[in-house]
Amino acid sequence: MRLDSATLLAATFLLTFVVGLLFLFSWRQSRPAPALLIWGIAHLIGAVASAGLAARGLIPDLLSIGLANAAVLAAYGLIWAGITVFEGRRFRPAATFGGAALWALLCCVPAFYADISARVIAASGIACLYMGAGALLFWRRGAEPLASRRAAAVLLAVYAVCYGVRIPATLLAPPVTTPNPLDSPWITILCLASMLLTLAVAFLFTALTKERAEHRQRVAASTDGLTGVANRRAFVDHAEATAARGQAVTLVLFDLDHFKGINDTFGHMVGDTVLIAFCEVAAVLLPPGTRIGRLGGEEFACLLTGHPEAALVQADSVRRAFAAIRIAALPDLRLSASAGLAQGRGEPFDALMRRADTALYAAKNGGRNRVAVADTLLPAAA
Ligand code: GH3
Ligand code: MG
Ligand code: MG
Repeated sequence: MRLDSATLLAATFLLTFVVGLLFLFSWRQSRPAPALLIWGIAHLIGAVASAGLAARGLIPDLLSIGLANAAVLAAYGLIWAGITVFEGRRFRPAATFGGAALWALLCCVPAFYADISARVIAASGIACLYMGAGALLFWRRGAEPLASRRAAAVLLAVYAVCYGVRIPATLLAPPVTTPNPLDSPWITILCLASMLLTLAVAFLFTALTKERAEHRQRVAASTDGLTGVANRRAFVDHAEATAARGQAVTLVLFDLDHFKGINDTFGHMVGDTVLIAFCEVAAVLLPPGTRIGRLGGEEFACLLTGHPEAALVQADSVRRAFAAIRIAALPDLRLSASAGLAQGRGEPFDALMRRADTALYAAKNGGRNRVAVADTLLPAAA
């Protein structure tokens, strides 16, 4: 099948242009995603560049070869820059447009400009670097579990490889200049490949942005805004699921002592700082991965799955460390917390919770700043 070059080039231009506009439209809808703006601009520049390449023979070569390829490389630079911004890094103009600038400089060297092999190798090398660097960024940054991240990395890696392969291919079989370059069968391949890339990039990058927004909403819905630990609902969901698996668990309920007095004496802001400090101490001292939850006010819980004796030691180490906190600016501030601990296996979570609560009550009545263990021989309260 032989496709008409002019139609293919027009289709490539239109598709890239529309995708660029759609990126800008999505960016307007979700302003906190600046990567969409950068990717939109990249596609608009890419569209103009493809029009410039298509106009070979109709406009001066300096525009269709020099400027249009510089624009293509700027578009690739911007795609990479969008990925860096998406991954939380800052926008770096020098690196973004460095590839295009290098190309422009090389074009000023007559020997380079006249050598089609040198031009193909330089442009392919620069594009390969941008796509490869983008692929690596997507592959490496895995803090957020985004389903499309790996697919996007693979897509960019395939592109990097295609551009990379063009370098030895050009060295082995130097391209020949035909009187009308638009007659070359390569035009069909390049246009189809470019349209596929544009569609795949549009789909995957938009999916990534949407997945991130959804992930952040899920995290926000399950996190306590002040302390960053799980909120009550998320903690209870996790604890119920763990208990339902029949795993031996230890539930520890912590309640800060005389917290109302801290608020009244030192102010609400200091109270907030104390709540945050408690969570930091607990996160450092409890085994990695332990789920800590804020059940409300100054009440916290954690679920430990290790040996029951170890759980008691860990709960007590949190209590001790919290009580040892001193703030130079507030020498009169004394902190302490009481804890109630209940162990169980296969027991409904609310029954475990009631026993831990009874133990906490005992710790408070016993004078506070201590850990009390529920009598595990007691039947779960009805
Ligand atoms: P006890 O030793 O018996 O536990 O006494 P307590 O003062 O700690 O307990 P109480 O239930 O009387 O007071 C809890 C206080 O916690 C009352 C409330 O104003 C305060 N509080 C609840 N949520 C927050 C918060 O997010 N920030 C601050 N600063 N205070 C809070
Ligand atoms: Mg309380
Ligand atoms: Mg309290």
